[in-house]
Amino acid sequence: GQCAAVCPTGALTVKPDVDRVWEAIYDPDKVVVVQVAPAVRVAIGEEFGLHPGEKATGQMVAALRRIGFDRVFDTLFTADMTTIEESLELLGRLDNGGRLPLFTSCCPAWVKYAEQFHAGLLENLSTCRSPQQMFGSLIKKHYARETGLESGKMVCVSVMPCTAKKFEAIRPEFVTAESPDVDIVLTTVELAKMIKEAGIVFNELEPQTFDNPLGMGSGAAVIYGASGGVMESVVRFVSFHLDGAGQGRVDFYPARGMQGIKEAELAIGGQTLKLAVVNGLGNAEKLIRRLEAGEIFYHAVEIMACPGGCLGGGGQPVPNDTTVRRERMKGIYSLDRAEQLHRPQDNVFVTRALERWFGGPANRNTHRDLHTHYYPRRRISGKPVDVSGEPEQQPL
Ligand code: SF4
Repeated sequence: GQCAAVCPTGALTVKPDVDRVWEAIYDPDKVVVVQVAPAVRVAIGEEFGLHPGEKATGQMVAALRRIGFDRVFDTLFTADMTTIEESLELLGRLDNGGRLPLFTSCCPAWVKYAEQFHAGLLENLSTCRSPQQMFGSLIKKHYARETGLESGKMVCVSVMPCTAKKFEAIRPEFVTAESPDVDIVLTTVELAKMIKEAGIVFNELEPQTFDNPLGMGSGAAVIYGASGGVMESVVRFVSFHLDGAGQGRVDFYPARGMQGIKEAELAIGGQTLKLAVVNGLGNAEKLIRRLEAGEIFYHAVEIMACPGGCLGGGGQPVPNDTTVRRERMKGIYSLDRAEQLHRPQDNVFVTRALERWFGGPANRNTHRDLHTHYYPRRRISGKPVDVSGEPEQQPL
């Protein structure tokens, strides 16, 4: 719409994001594409009387089509892509003595915290863009070219459990002269509001499936929605690469659960990888202090700012308490069990896209479009999180 033309980042407008999406949908010149994060599907039903954790994927897809989105895609696609790129980055660092531990970088609240308070650790952060931003880049560059759509006519919307993702989408690294890769970010609650505004009776919708090929994801991508999911996906990838483990399932239970800091060892390929999974920035601060004091060592660390990971994000329906989050977590793992594919490398849609658009994974081309860099950020206010108390423990 007109607003987007005047102010591509949306930063100068006070128009609510929901209104911006309606405007794009009603604009006949625009092709409006939507992606949905894993944690949204186990929570959006709560806005319509379903139980927390109850799968609502099919109705959600149907609702998105009814609202008028031209393509309904899944962030699972780029979650699998993120795992592949990030796992190869970890294997590369293990091989060539690169900076360890490798920290995950798909949570923008954690990335910003590191930029503000731990500039010395920025080289440890994975250079991978988050699944949201990989998706935006794919849509605006490669998908647009392949389908003959002008990228300027495409409006890329994402639905996230998260308010920090709105900030991530307007980081200058992800905004081209034409438009941001991801134009508008809606939270789970905002999408529910649109569904209500459209008068759609959510519970009566016939379930539908995502569009191809960017709607395909493995179970390893679904679990990105829970704390420990990124680490477990990486384990599913590297266990094949280092051990040649067969086609079957890989379940990595030490990464799962609501505890503030989880530690695990993975004996693999003749070495033992030391891993940690953290949720909550207070817990991250504690772990970083012990790392910097030389008291502990890890090869890889997953950090998510929200309790329980993205399923407990600030854009999710309320109540968003421990009981509800636990149910959403169960929902996520049952979705993984119901998927036919459990490892990112088995998602042929992703491996084919990597071949076709980039000439394979982890190369100069993927680094241009799927990776990024970080900057020390001036602290306008605030201090590192208080670390006096014990790590927050929320055992399942
Ligand atoms: Fe957003 Fe929270 Fe997930 Fe971080 S952990 S990406 S802040 S929902």
